[in-house]
Amino acid sequence: MKSDKNKIAIVTGGGSGIGLAIAEKFVQNKITVIIIGRDQVKLETAKNKLGELCIPVAFDLDNLSSVPELINDLIKKHKKIDILVNNAGINLKKEFTEVTDEEFQRIMHTNVTAMFALSREVVKCMIKNGSGSIINISSMASQYGIPKVIAYSASKAAIEGMTRAMAVELSPKGIRVNCIAPGFIATEMSAKALNNDKERKDKVMSRTPMGALGMPADIGDAAVFLASAASAYITGVVLPVDGGNSVGF
Ligand code: NAD
Repeated sequence: MKSDKNKIAIVTGGGSGIGLAIAEKFVQNKITVIIIGRDQVKLETAKNKLGELCIPVAFDLDNLSSVPELINDLIKKHKKIDILVNNAGINLKKEFTEVTDEEFQRIMHTNVTAMFALSREVVKCMIKNGSGSIINISSMASQYGIPKVIAYSASKAAIEGMTRAMAVELSPKGIRVNCIAPGFIATEMSAKALNNDKERKDKVMSRTPMGALGMPADIGDAAVFLASAASAYITGVVLPVDGGNSVGF
C-alpha cells in the first residue's frame, strides 16, 4: 500500500465492533482517525487502545441540524478529511406486522438520513481538496431477504443505492465511493440477532462456505484497501466480506 501518512479519516460508530476494528487498522497504517460515537466510555476505551492517532468525538449522528457545525469544527482543527467510513448503524429485529411507523423511521433516520447528512458535509470539504474516499457499510440484508428486519433491510438497500449514485456524481470530482457488505461478523449487534435464535444461527452457518463468523478485523482490512491508493480505479462497488455467505447454497 502507498503511504497513507498524514491522512485524516472519520469512522462513525468507531467506538465498538466493526467501526473500532476499522479505526485500529487505519491507525496501524498511520492514518489519523476521528471516531464518532455516542458512548463516551467506549470512545475513551478505544482512544486508550489506539493511542495518539485516534481522536474520539462524542456526537449523536441523529442530531442532523448539528452535523454541519461538527464537520466545520473538525475541518478547522484538522484542515481536511481524506476518508469517511459511514459505519454507525442500528438494527431492529421484530415481526413485520409488529414494527411501528416510529420504529421504522428511527432505523431509517440513523442508517440513511444521518449517513446522508454527514456525507454531504464531508463531501463539500473533499470537493475543495479534489480527492477523497468514502466507504459505506451495508449488510447481507441488502443482498437477499432476511425475515424480521424490515427497516434494517430497507436502510441497507438504500445505502447501496446511494453508494452508486454518489460514486457517479462524485467520481469526476476526485471522490471515490464504495460499499462493504459484511456477512455475519462477531460483534454485539450480531450476538443480539443470533444468540437465542438457534434456527437463524444454523441458517447463517449452513450457507457460509468458510464455516465461521467473520471477525471485525476482516472488515477493517477491506476498508484499508478501499481507502488506499491500492484501489485508486475502484468506485461504486459493493464488496461482500462474508466468507462466501452471499453466494452460499
Ligand atoms: P455495533 O452496535 O457494535 O456498532 C454500531 C456503532 O454505531 C456503535 O458504536 C454505536 O454507538 C454507533 N451508533 C449507532 N447509532 C449512532 C448514532 N446515532 N450516532 C453515533 N453513533 C451511533 O455494531 P457492529 O456490528 O459493529 O455494526 C457496525 C456496522 O456494520 C453497522 O452499520 C451494521 O449495520 C453493519 N453490519 C454489521 C454486521 C454484523 O454481523 N455485525 C453485519 C452486516 C452489517
